Amino acid sequence: MSENLYRFLPKVDEILEDKSIKELVEKLPRSLVIESIREELAFIRKKIKEGLVTREGLFTELASLVTNICLRASYKASYKLKKVINATGTIIHTNLGRSLLDEDVVEHIRLTACNYVNLEYDLESGRRGERYSLIESLICRITGAEAAMVVNNNAAAVLLTLSSIAKGREVIVSRGELVEIGGSFRIPEVMEESGAILVEVGTTNKTHLHDYERAINENSSAILKVHTSNYRILGFTSSVEVKEFSKLKEKYDIAIIEDLGSGVLIDLSKYGLEYEPTVQDSLSNGADLVTFSGDKLLGGPQAGIIVGKKEYISLMKKNPLTRALRVDKFTLAALEATFRLYLDEERAIEKIPTLKMLTMPMGDIEKRAEELFHQIEINDNLNSNLEIEVVDNYSEVGGGSMPLEELPTKCIAIRSNTHSSQKIERILRGYDIPIIGRIHRDRVYLDLRTIKREDYPIILDGLKYLSNRLEES
Ligand SMILES: *Cc1c(COP(=O)(O)O)cnc(C)c1O
Repeated sequence: MSENLYRFLPKVDEILEDKSIKELVEKLPRSLVIESIREELAFIRKKIKEGLVTREGLFTELASLVTNICLRASYKASYKLKKVINATGTIIHTNLGRSLLDEDVVEHIRLTACNYVNLEYDLESGRRGERYSLIESLICRITGAEAAMVVNNNAAAVLLTLSSIAKGREVIVSRGELVEIGGSFRIPEVMEESGAILVEVGTTNKTHLHDYERAINENSSAILKVHTSNYRILGFTSSVEVKEFSKLKEKYDIAIIEDLGSGVLIDLSKYGLEYEPTVQDSLSNGADLVTFSGDKLLGGPQAGIIVGKKEYISLMKKNPLTRALRVDKFTLAALEATFRLYLDEERAIEKIPTLKMLTMPMGDIEKRAEELFHQIEINDNLNSNLEIEVVDNYSEVGGGSMPLEELPTKCIAIRSNTHSSQKIERILRGYDIPIIGRIHRDRVYLDLRTIKREDYPIILDGLKYLSNRLEES
């Protein structure tokens, strides 16, 4: 015979009188607390309705009701965009927000955020100014360009460039460079959005200068070179370098645009990495316009930077699309501060986190690995079922940059005799400050190259949490 269990459920007003709930209302928005109370009650009501609880069962549920309300409300009130530990070893991890900023850069953003600034105000004349002019000369100084322009991201930079100089006209691209970047940026699609007409030349593996030349007619406006950032075609291949297009520029009125993707400003082969074309090289080789990202190898905020001939950049500044793609003051602040670091190359390598991680000497990584491993070893709260050791591995550059580069690194490898590495990975990912590692050879790897030293205590706490969770199950 079923009895009416609903009558044991407290009313919302009664719950609000509970001491812990009262404290909660002091800290969190009342509406969130009430919503959480309603949801927890509805959850129990549903169980009763489905006949899933006995009378005793219900009292157990009620005993944890307040705790569950607190947990639910705290979760609702917590930030959804939050800090995670990137232990993947992928430096420019697009899913984890790409580049990190240096403290001085962050300080400049902070200053800009809580003060009025001369964003569009010319301090000399006291009249309206232009937001891009603030950092144009700095970008020109570092890249050697005549003019520069900044938009939201590199996809926007390519879109604006094509829309400004090639709308309704033909743009010639090699079939070997019709790339897709990051799942949503596809050259043919961006081209279509811009109103430019795509003319494909050559084949996937080979495109020659004469292929481009044959495609040129009165309606051609530009040749677009796209850096195949995230893949390489190897073997029987050939493509035309920007330098070679100068022969065509002498004969025809045609612009050479290069989408570099990453936007390196320092020749990284000096630091033992594979050569990646720099913005300066592209310009001095004759590109009229070069576009690149702010948050890939440049190591700055999300942005798209366009540098090149003044006549073209002026067209962009007048394009109505510019208004839709414009950057905010935080981006400008971060970009100016980041570009400033490039005035001194050594300083840039030392201060810009992306470059620092990229060029980190093996000796430093080894030291970090030993230090963290030692801290783990002396931590006797850890489950004896966890096997932890330091192993050799490779980090990746990421962000679709330098796909073939394998950077030797050291990792903390974790496995358990009783639980799968999938489970270990999931638990670490579910920690308060999620620790994102990768699974390799049935172990979870935490790569020292991308873990900040100040975050070691978080790793230690995360491992304790892992240990406890494994013991419970
Ligand atoms: C990454 C990349 C893009 C897109 O840049 P976002 O800044 O992510 O918009 C475009 N072209 C190339 C060649 C790239 O590598």
